[in-house]
Amino acid sequence: MSDIIQLLPDHVANQIAAGEVVQRPASVVKELLENAIDAKATHIKLIIKEAGKTLIQVIDNGSGMSVTDARLSFERHATSKIKSAEDLFQINTKGFRGEALASIAAIAHVELKTRLENDEVGTEIKIEGSEVTSQEVCVSPKGTSISVKNLFYNIPARRNFLKSNTVELRHIIDEFHRVAMVHTDIRFDMFHNGSEVFSLPISNCRQRIVHVFGGKTNEKLVPVEEETGLVKISGYVGKPEYAKRTRGEQFFFVNDRFIKSAYLNHAVSSAFEGLLKEKTHPSYFIYLQVDPKTIDINIHPTKTEIKFDDEHSLYAMLRSTIKHSLGQFNVAPVLDFNRDSSMDTPYEYKSKTAKVPTIEVDRSFNPFKEEKRKSSGTNTSNPYTNFKKESAGSWENLYVGLESADTTPKTTADNFSTVEFESVEVTGSLFKGDENAELEHNTTYQLRRKYIVTTIKSGMVIINQHRAHQRIVYEEVLRNITMASAVSQQLLFPLKLSFSKQEVELLKTVKEQLENTGFVFDMISGEEATISGIPTVTTESEVSVLLEKLVSDIEQEVPDSGFSLTDLLARSISGSLAVRTGVDLAPEQQQHIVNSLFACTEPTITPDNKVTFITLTVDDIDKKF
Ligand code: ADP
Ligand code: MG
Repeated sequence: MSDIIQLLPDHVANQIAAGEVVQRPASVVKELLENAIDAKATHIKLIIKEAGKTLIQVIDNGSGMSVTDARLSFERHATSKIKSAEDLFQINTKGFRGEALASIAAIAHVELKTRLENDEVGTEIKIEGSEVTSQEVCVSPKGTSISVKNLFYNIPARRNFLKSNTVELRHIIDEFHRVAMVHTDIRFDMFHNGSEVFSLPISNCRQRIVHVFGGKTNEKLVPVEEETGLVKISGYVGKPEYAKRTRGEQFFFVNDRFIKSAYLNHAVSSAFEGLLKEKTHPSYFIYLQVDPKTIDINIHPTKTEIKFDDEHSLYAMLRSTIKHSLGQFNVAPVLDFNRDSSMDTPYEYKSKTAKVPTIEVDRSFNPFKEEKRKSSGTNTSNPYTNFKKESAGSWENLYVGLESADTTPKTTADNFSTVEFESVEVTGSLFKGDENAELEHNTTYQLRRKYIVTTIKSGMVIINQHRAHQRIVYEEVLRNITMASAVSQQLLFPLKLSFSKQEVELLKTVKEQLENTGFVFDMISGEEATISGIPTVTTESEVSVLLEKLVSDIEQEVPDSGFSLTDLLARSISGSLAVRTGVDLAPEQQQHIVNSLFACTEPTITPDNKVTFITLTVDDIDKKF
């Protein structure tokens, strides 16, 4: 038999190797940012189009490259960062394998422009699928600009495998964060489809975290600081009361490199023991400096996992340092403890300028004409007039002009009864084949503020009030989103909510769907959203919690398609708005839940597949006797 083994042609070998380095646009972002940092840049710009599918460009003001280096940089195993095997144990650059540029050039259209500081002209190289298509002398600022266009253009399978723009952008922003949070001495700017997403000036660590995660982050941070022979620990943990339902803001950096470590994460969590609400996770931004000889960062191809020589001691130190910081924070006196919150200015007024008080004299006032005074003096547009002239004892009147006609306090329980559900006939399809199984009306009973019990001809139904209402709201929201039919309640004062930039980006991606549910956004940009209308199913006071949960749900589940996004939205909203266990329900409200539940298309389960009700037939009951 003849010989059958061949060497793979270079371009095939390169494509295969590229697969390991470049999984998605975010991998390219990571490699290019790291190269710019290794080149000692002080200002790095990241420009993205279509979540990196059409363009990823990184511009730096670093060292730049000579003509020869520019050409060589695209060769596999071409690196300026290590020269001998020993260097592998002393790595203080981000890259060292010399693989990134070769890999990227194998699967995209790449343009490189670079100039050394002392050279007059620079070099421009274009490469498509590892083939150099042009090399020219060019005018260029000091430093390097690399554009990566049409990623995976020659591997359709990989290109088709990419997720939606929302998901891919999310990954890019994650990588950007991981790099930007360490290199606070570098200015970073990021643009997506022409608009600025981040602009991070050179700053200290705390300011950088705040710039990345939004102004409201500052008050949440507790500093962590410790230095021993083994490790230097610095950074911040989030105060326990701000712990989130998602694991979003959790960062470990070892020697300026982002890493994941379930073991160290456990150390942090255990330091928070007893301080967190159930199912919440603390935020943390922990920076560890250790002797490079005591770690191995080479064990994972994407280098986010590393091995420590003395993991146990590190665990113990981290845990006790954070415990100590939290302890210090807890003993700090709580200011404003006795403050009377009724003295607070409603925040809508904070930005308004104070009005000079004026005195109005009612010249027709005649103290002896009681009747006349009452009828002419009632001016509903001025709450203070009402307050004085009507009944001074009733504080509610203060709010007459501020709220719409409805002055009854809204609670969740009150609120849902005002929701108008489409009147769909009770189908009874659940009880197919059993003619007796129709619901008997007007007989409901609430058990332990948790269940609604009602009878059917064949026996009884026990409904979980929270779960049932979740199903009802879910279908209502879904209908509204898909039919864009929701009614909105106009707010008297637009609500200003602050988010991190990243959360704002997420909100923008679901803006249209949210508007279909009844939200009216006046503005979403920077770190703020201004809302002037909200869905009728919710109240003003619930909105911020609802949107916060929504954003964190999206972050956690990262929906891929429009369909699952709609579903996620409806699930998140229904989870927030459904009447809770423990809420007393009036008979009409119980009745309303029963009727609406059985008018649902899928009444038996919650959107998360939990059982909403059970039935007990008379037979079942008879057997018990
Ligand atoms: P590595 O970073 O592992 O060395 P890369 O393929 O990422 O490998 O880069 C190859 C070489 O190209 C680097 O070692 C460096 O000398 C040079 N290089 C890459 N990007 C830049 C840049 N932005 N500025 C200056 N030199 C760069
Ligand atoms: Mg590199």
